[in-house]
Amino acid sequence: MTKKIELLAPAGGRESLEAAIYFGADAVYASGKTYGLRAFADNFSNDEIADAAKFVHSHGSKIYITLNAIFHECDFVGLEEYVAALADANVDAFIISDPGVIAVAKRAAPDVPIHLSTQANTTNLYSARFWHEQGVERVILSRELTLDEIATMRKQVPETLELEGFVHGAMCISYSGRCLLSNYFTGRGGNQGACAQPCRWEYHLHEKGYGGEYFPVYADERGTYVFNSKDLMMLPHVGDIIDAGITSLKIEGRMKSAYYVGCIVNAYRHAIDDYQSGKPFDETLLAEIGKAGSRAFTTGFYYGNPREDGQDTVRDVPQRTFDFVGVVRGEKDENGRLLIEQRGKFSVGETLDVLSPNVSGLFEVTDIISEKGESRQSAPHAQEIVLISCPFDLRKGDMVRKKREL
Ligand code: SF4
Repeated sequence: MTKKIELLAPAGGRESLEAAIYFGADAVYASGKTYGLRAFADNFSNDEIADAAKFVHSHGSKIYITLNAIFHECDFVGLEEYVAALADANVDAFIISDPGVIAVAKRAAPDVPIHLSTQANTTNLYSARFWHEQGVERVILSRELTLDEIATMRKQVPETLELEGFVHGAMCISYSGRCLLSNYFTGRGGNQGACAQPCRWEYHLHEKGYGGEYFPVYADERGTYVFNSKDLMMLPHVGDIIDAGITSLKIEGRMKSAYYVGCIVNAYRHAIDDYQSGKPFDETLLAEIGKAGSRAFTTGFYYGNPREDGQDTVRDVPQRTFDFVGVVRGEKDENGRLLIEQRGKFSVGETLDVLSPNVSGLFEVTDIISEKGESRQSAPHAQEIVLISCPFDLRKGDMVRKKREL
């Protein structure tokens, strides 16, 4: 029997959430306005969470809410009421790292499952068993585990304990975010959801007395002396992840755009479905990652400590190959034209590329009609609604993009 595998996507705001569900996520994770470790994403009010829960449930999907910031005494004020309100909103799980918060959640919302956040750094089966005995239904594994370690853990923890693992997105150079670089350099706390990612900055050594002379920092065979981790990308290896016993495959990125979420979810959805139906990996899916925009990639610790291969010591930032220019807002009209909401300028004569769960292909823009029925040569205004002819039967939620001039 095919194992039930969950594709879990980030939802930093409502648009990303809808894109994640549309492109095939089985579940999304999101934050309320507090406690959620992504202070600069849009995040959701309590009413918005209730509405989001209705939306995802109507599509047969789930929503998990993060409560995984580092909690001080003052943060517990009002927490019990907040957790109870989330339970009333029918959320499907809480993502928590602090045992004190777990205790509050179990008391205030005993029916809502608890997923142990990766911030709790579960790196061995003894910890995993311990947390399960405390009522945790799922452990989100530390990113620093190998697939062999995960497979061993899977065999030795109760079947009722689910294992979730990251498959795509940013890595931290410290153990799953236990890091004060951002606090030190910018005053923005990484463990309060406000990391400025100074690990990605370019560093030089500067010795007092050498009058403004800077020395570049290099890596050597003993390791690397810069902090810039490559991003995790397991798209061609989803089969290895599933075989190791991870049943929820998580994409990082609550600060990312709906377009990014759509591209990445679409690629992983196809890769997972292909693997589960016995098809070989479709190499063309890799192009989708570049179209979304990317940094240099690594397979993280899954095949062993990547050492210097996990670091991007030359700051190799590949260009995003496509620009997002529109999202489909309605089915074709009687003249065969699609209703598009503009997200980037496009013009008659340009070639657009389709991002859709079901359709792929290119088409030339032959006409642009404004909402008032005027014929136009381009669509330069952000979020204006226009009609364009398209040879494909696209649906509401599909997106179009155009190749960048690099
Ligand atoms: S500075 Fe970098 S390593 Fe530190 S928490 Fe932020 S992203 Fe992670």
